[in-house]
Amino acid sequence: MTDTAEPAAEVDAEVLIVGAGITGLYQLHRALEEGFTALLLEAGDGVGGTWYWNRYPGARFDSESYTYGYLFSRELYDEWEWQEHFAEQPETERYLNHVVDRFDLRRHMRFGASVVSAAWDEGSSTWTVRTADGAAVRARYLVAATGVLSVPHYPDVPGRDEFGGVSVHTGRWPAAGVDVAGKRVAVVGTGSSGVQVIPVIAPDVESLTVYQRSANWCTPLNNRPITAEEQAQLRADFEAIKHTLDTSASGFLHPTHDRATFEDAPEERRAFFERMWSSPGFSKLTSNYTDLLMDPEANAEWCAFIAEKVRGLVDDPAVADKLIPKGHRYGEHRPPFVTDYYETYNRPNVELVDLRESPMTRVIDAGIETADGVVRDHDVIVWATGWDFGTGALNRMGIVGREGLALTDHWADGPATFLGVQTVGFPNFFFPGGPHAAAGNNPRYNGDQVDFVTDVLTFARDHGYDTIEVDPAAEERWTEMVDRYAVRPPSFGQSSYYFGANIPGKPRRYLLNSAGRPKLFKEIARVIENDYKAFRMTSSS
Ligand SMILES: Cc1cc2nc3c(=O)[nH]c(=O)nc-3n(C[C@H](O)[C@H](O)[C@H](O)COP(=O)(O)OP(=O)(O)OC[C@H]3O[C@@H](n4cnc5c(N)ncnc54)[C@H](O)[C@@H]3O)c2cc1C
Repeated sequence: MTDTAEPAAEVDAEVLIVGAGITGLYQLHRALEEGFTALLLEAGDGVGGTWYWNRYPGARFDSESYTYGYLFSRELYDEWEWQEHFAEQPETERYLNHVVDRFDLRRHMRFGASVVSAAWDEGSSTWTVRTADGAAVRARYLVAATGVLSVPHYPDVPGRDEFGGVSVHTGRWPAAGVDVAGKRVAVVGTGSSGVQVIPVIAPDVESLTVYQRSANWCTPLNNRPITAEEQAQLRADFEAIKHTLDTSASGFLHPTHDRATFEDAPEERRAFFERMWSSPGFSKLTSNYTDLLMDPEANAEWCAFIAEKVRGLVDDPAVADKLIPKGHRYGEHRPPFVTDYYETYNRPNVELVDLRESPMTRVIDAGIETADGVVRDHDVIVWATGWDFGTGALNRMGIVGREGLALTDHWADGPATFLGVQTVGFPNFFFPGGPHAAAGNNPRYNGDQVDFVTDVLTFARDHGYDTIEVDPAAEERWTEMVDRYAVRPPSFGQSSYYFGANIPGKPRRYLLNSAGRPKLFKEIARVIENDYKAFRMTSSS
């Protein structure tokens, strides 16, 4: 740590946060709690991030509601009774608005404020941040809580803008809704969002055509209302629940299993798989056999079980066959969780188009044409085609650090980070909830990052420093670790969006950290123990 002699600059806010999702709101709360002046800018017109933008019918958690919500306030936890084990989007949006009002955060927030540039000023050690409407804000610290799944991706299909009907991405669903009743609707994409929207709208539409590029290993979400007894138990168990969620590798409550696949006889295995099939959400991943993601043969057993289930649920064997993934193992892509998804294909008004057999050639005024020459007419096209994961929002914010270095150039070959919170050349810039943190239940490890960023800022202030930049060696170590773990189980596969595989031209680098939360905990503890020497801190006064 070194000293310089620049005068301290006037700032509009000491901490400027971008993004009003679950990460940014927590960062705002923590910054204010520690006595910083803080302001939050959000491109949307309301609170919620993911749960503001994703209003499509059927949008809901795959994490148990009470494991996703905040744990920092016992009073908040006690007073908010989630209605379902996996809450639907409106409830989560209401919850996050409740948090904002309960902790008096709204007066520190500006909506409709899309950040288009952020430039580091070396002389004053501040960031100047501009929004699309021309406003400028100067801040000491810039915290981008801009989300990993916040920039919608559309496939590059000719004529997409020429469609004469309603064209909508699941992640930009209008608040006023989209009228699909009695319409000829296309859903493009069968990832986590596609498989949620399909069964919910199918009964209302005249026809539903599902355009599938990659089939996914879907299993039941097994959602249900939370009973009064469960509500009482959730209150009684708060401390234990908090402890597990604060410490578990996945950030879920699911207990891990203690047996490997072939330790069980075939009939025991089948009974266990049945229990998994009936278990809630992500427990199929977190509570399954210990070797599920490690041993291809073990993985194939579980896949064969799911395939058999699909064949049992879908009447037409040819359709069932198309719905069974061929080219990837379970856990290679993010596994979606479903309610009545496979059964939807038994409806007479639902058709499945396999884009592997017949790719989409163009969108025309009336609908969609495929390579076999068939044109299907549609009134509405729903693009459930995913996101520019991990770096999408950060790379679109016009961030320029030391000596005119653009973040997009610095990360041209993929992100380099320390703990998924900072990168060299961009002092006083943090990005909790961005790439490289961990994997699992998002708010848990994003919250760990927010707590850590807040600790770093507080340490710097308490010691008279106001410029913070990660040491290049620390960044190199963390990034090298991320890349090393990326190519071995239990990482998601290289054909997944976690490697940028869905975006043409995007560097194929892993955007999560599959050494996971334990590694994050360990490194954070080490940084604190070593008095934050992983960061170069200087003073401008
Ligand atoms: C449909 C869906 C379901 C999901 N379900 C789960 C789940 O069950 N469990 C789970 O763990 N995770 C889930 N996720 C992942 C989810 O993104 C995270 O759980 C969580 O919402 C991330 O919160 P965040 O605050 O980091 O980012 P976000 O919620 O994405 O918020 C980021 C905010 O930043 C704003 N922003 C971005 N760029 C700018 C800019 N330049 N200027 C101003 N504002 C900007 C965006 O408008 C957005 O509001 C889901 C994601 C989706 C899309």
